[in-house]
Amino acid sequence: MYVAGEVWGAGRGSVLVFYHSKAGRQLAVLGGVAFALWIIGLLWHPQIFGAFRTLKGSAFDVLFLTFLIAGLASFVYSIMRILDLRQEMQRQQEQGKRSYWIATHDHLTRLPNRYAFEKFDIAQTPRNDDDSRLPSATIFSIDLDGFKKVNDLVGHHGGDRLLQEISKRLSAFAAESCVFRFGGDEFVVVARDLAAEKDEQFAKLMIQSMSRPIEIGTIWCQVGASIGYARWPEHGDVLLDVCHRSDIALYQAKSLGANNALKFQDEMQQIVAAKAKLEGQLRRAIEAGHIRPFYQPLINLRTGDVCGFEALARWADDDGNSVSPEIFIRIAEETGLITPLFQQLLKTACEDAKLWPGHICLSFNLSAVQMEDRLLTSRILKILEDAGLDPERLEVEITENALIQDPDLAATIIGDLHKAGIQIALDDFGTGYSSLAQLARYQFDKIKIDKSFVKSARDHDDRHEKIVQALLNLSRGLQIKTTVEGIEENAQLAYFMHEGCDIGQGYLFGKAMPFTETVEFLRGRNEILKAS
Ligand code: C2E
Ligand code: CA
Ligand code: CA
Repeated sequence: MYVAGEVWGAGRGSVLVFYHSKAGRQLAVLGGVAFALWIIGLLWHPQIFGAFRTLKGSAFDVLFLTFLIAGLASFVYSIMRILDLRQEMQRQQEQGKRSYWIATHDHLTRLPNRYAFEKFDIAQTPRNDDDSRLPSATIFSIDLDGFKKVNDLVGHHGGDRLLQEISKRLSAFAAESCVFRFGGDEFVVVARDLAAEKDEQFAKLMIQSMSRPIEIGTIWCQVGASIGYARWPEHGDVLLDVCHRSDIALYQAKSLGANNALKFQDEMQQIVAAKAKLEGQLRRAIEAGHIRPFYQPLINLRTGDVCGFEALARWADDDGNSVSPEIFIRIAEETGLITPLFQQLLKTACEDAKLWPGHICLSFNLSAVQMEDRLLTSRILKILEDAGLDPERLEVEITENALIQDPDLAATIIGDLHKAGIQIALDDFGTGYSSLAQLARYQFDKIKIDKSFVKSARDHDDRHEKIVQALLNLSRGLQIKTTVEGIEENAQLAYFMHEGCDIGQGYLFGKAMPFTETVEFLRGRNEILKAS
C-alpha cells in the first residue's frame, strides 16, 4: 500500500539508510583511520617530533612533509567524494520513490491506480481506535454512465476535467489512499468498517454526488454512475477477490440502466458467466455473419396490399437455441457490438429489399444506443448507396426511450435522415416516456401502436379501447400514419380497420420469415387479393 511517509522517506530514515550504504561505510572507515592516526599522534607525538628533528635538513624531512600534506589533501578529497556520493544516492532514492509513485498512481487524477490496489493493505487503512467491531470493509466498484457522450461533447480535455472533478467528489467519501482510479471512467472506493446496512445508502450518496452537474468551460455537463459493491471479509478473504465480486455486481447494476447500485449476490456469478458465454458466442456470430434479418409483412389495411416488411434479427446460439433479439440486441448495445451488427443486418436487408417490387418498403429498427452515434446518418446513407436502394424505400423505427438520452442529438439525426428522404416511425408508442412530448418535438412519418394495446376480443376492456381511440385521433390530428402491431385475430383486424388505422402487422398476416419466403409470400398475397 502507498504510505506517504514511506514514499518520500522520513529524514531520519534516510540518514540511517546512508550509514548502511557503501558511501556510509567508506566514511566510517575514513573516520576510523583518521581517529586512529589522531590517537597515534596523541600517544607518540614526542617521538614523532623527535624523529622529525633528527631528519631536519635531510631530503626525508621534505619527503615526510610532502606525504603529510598529500595525506591531508586526500583526506579532504575523500570526504568530499563521499558527500557527493551521498547526494547522488539521495537523488537516486528520490527518483526511485518518484518512479514508484508514478507506477502506483494515475497522473490525471493523482489517485492510486489498479496496481496500487493490488498492493493495498487493508490493515494499514485508518480505523477508529475505539471501534471494537471486527474489521470489515466495503468495496464499491464504480463506472460512470454517459461519460463517452460528455467526452464527445466537450472533447478529451473537457473529459479529463470531468474525471478530475469526479475524483475530487469521490475523495470526500473515503480516506485519501482508499479511492482508486482503475482506468477510463472506472473507480473503486474502499470504505472501512461501514455497517452493512449503510452500504446501499453510501452508494446512493456517491451516485448523487457524481451526478451533480459539472461546469466545463461554458458547458454544464452531467454524468450518471452505476455501482456494484461487495464486503470484506464476507465475500472473500483477499481484497482482489472481493473487488472481482463487486465488479460482477457492477456489471449487473449497469444492465439495469444508469444510476443503479447493487450488492453482490452469489447468483450473480452464474448470470454473469452465462452472459459472458453468450457475449463470446455473439461476437463470433457477428464475425461469421450468422445473424440474419427475417422479414415480417406490413399490410395496408385499406387495400390489403403488402406495403413493406420489418426486418427483425434472428440468431441461434452454438447449441442451436434461438435467442430473442431483445436479449442479444441488449448485449450488443452493452458491449459496443451494436454498430457492426447493425451495419451487417442493414446491408443484407437493403440488398434483399432491392429485389422486392419498388413500392415495398423496408422497416429497420434502430436501438437506443445508436441514437448516440453522430455518424449514424452517414453510416445508413453509405449502406443505402452501396446497395443501390432508394432512401425513400427505407423507414427507420425508433423507440421513445431512444429519444430521451440525448434529445438534441436525436433531433439532429432525425432531421438529417428526413432530409435524405428516409421515413421515421415512432415504435412501441405508448409504452415509453413522455410520448406526447416526443410527438410535439420530433417530426414522425408514422406511429406504431404497441402490441400491448391490442387486446383479445375475449378480454374486452372499455378503458383500453378509449386509449386506443385517443391515440388514433391524436395521430390523425397530427396527420401521421399509424401502424398497429400484434394483430393475431380477425376481430382485432376488423376493429382496427373500423377505427381507421392505416397499416397492420401481426401473426394473423405472417410471422417474420427469411428473404426467400418473402418472395413466395408476396406472390401468395397477390393471388388472394386478385381472387377476392
Ligand atoms: P419490435 O420492434 O417491437 O418488433 C415487434 C416484435 O413483435 C417482434 O419480436 C415480432 O416478432 C413480434 N410480433 C410481431 N407480430 C406479433 C404478434 O402478432 N404477436 C406477438 N405476440 N408478437 C408479435 P422479436 O422479433 O422477438 O423482436 C423483439 C424486439 O427486438 C423488437 O421489437 C425490436 O425492438 C428488437 N429487434 C429485433 N430485431 C432488431 C434489429 O435488427 N435491431 C434492433 N435495434 N432491434 C431489433
Ligand atoms: Ca419495430
Ligand atoms: Ca414495436
